[in-house]
Amino acid sequence: MNVNRVSYINFTGRIIDSHTHVGKHDGGDYHKTDLDIFVKSELPNKDTIEKMIVSDLDVLHGIKGEYEGNKTALESFNNDKNYKLLASCNPKDGNIKNLEKLFQEYPKDFAGLKFHPDIQQLDLSDKKYEPYMEFAVKEKLPCLFHCQVDTLKDGKVNPATRHISDPENIYSLAKKYPKTPFIMAHLGAGWQEAHDKAIEILIESIKKGDANLYADISWVDIDQPQEHIVKAIKRLKGIGDKNWKYGDQSYRLMFGTDAPLARFKGKSARNTYANFIEQIKTSIKTDKDLMLEADKIIDDLFYNNAKKLYLSPQEASSISKFKILSGALIIGLAGFIGYYASHKKQPNTRELAG
Ligand SMILES: [Zn+2]
Repeated sequence: MNVNRVSYINFTGRIIDSHTHVGKHDGGDYHKTDLDIFVKSELPNKDTIEKMIVSDLDVLHGIKGEYEGNKTALESFNNDKNYKLLASCNPKDGNIKNLEKLFQEYPKDFAGLKFHPDIQQLDLSDKKYEPYMEFAVKEKLPCLFHCQVDTLKDGKVNPATRHISDPENIYSLAKKYPKTPFIMAHLGAGWQEAHDKAIEILIESIKKGDANLYADISWVDIDQPQEHIVKAIKRLKGIGDKNWKYGDQSYRLMFGTDAPLARFKGKSARNTYANFIEQIKTSIKTDKDLMLEADKIIDDLFYNNAKKLYLSPQEASSISKFKILSGALIIGLAGFIGYYASHKKQPNTRELAG
């Protein structure tokens, strides 16, 4: 098949952004209004964001307590159906009683828990995580972890150090709670081999069946070809692996951005956001192994996977697969030679955040 002359259906879809924030970080102070700019009107690429999964940074940083901070964040959204909160956790200085009180008061308002071992400098082997994990098991809550790999300037994994939020560390904790979904944010932030490492940990956990790992793609390959996103999808589907007997595991990967942090704030934020989406879609549609199934893969990555993981069964069943807006069904021939060449080689990993 000639990848440069492929027919495809260009639909506009609904989006669930599984990784967004409010609160203070890196000198910024982010609020609902900073997320509304993406949610409350159609994006420049005609997609619409149906829901953002939000976590509060003040709690992660210890600026606010777990009960008060999460409650304040939740109330700032005023029951807006475009948003669903995760309860941020601070196992280092907090107490699981704060989360218990929060969930007693708001039993249906938090879709999971958020952890940031790096901000809190709390090793994932620390016993302080245990009551939080036991709570997650009891309440059947998915847990989103900041995930990052120490890389060298050439994108290779640094053999001398291991990041506190390394995928291996998350995997070790996840194995103790094998049914609880552990989401590795940023597919292991860093670049190049950082993502390869996160992908291989995902695959290892599937083959061994000893943990329930997921990943989001916030910041992944944002300035370059989406080779790791495509690679992750292929590996999770077992494409190219003759011995694969685990079915389609690509539901474990989902779209996220970390908005409104860093470049997702300010005048060009909406264009940056839409461009990131379009680059990923193009990478999927032009890949010879994925192009025939591209529409389903895109719908899953940007919408269905996060819906199944984070949203309640009632919410999930009431949402249609994707919305085809009038006039958006365009059959086209697309040539993408040179597309990748226009993109920068190396992402600015210093932006990587919460
Ligand atoms: Zn984040």
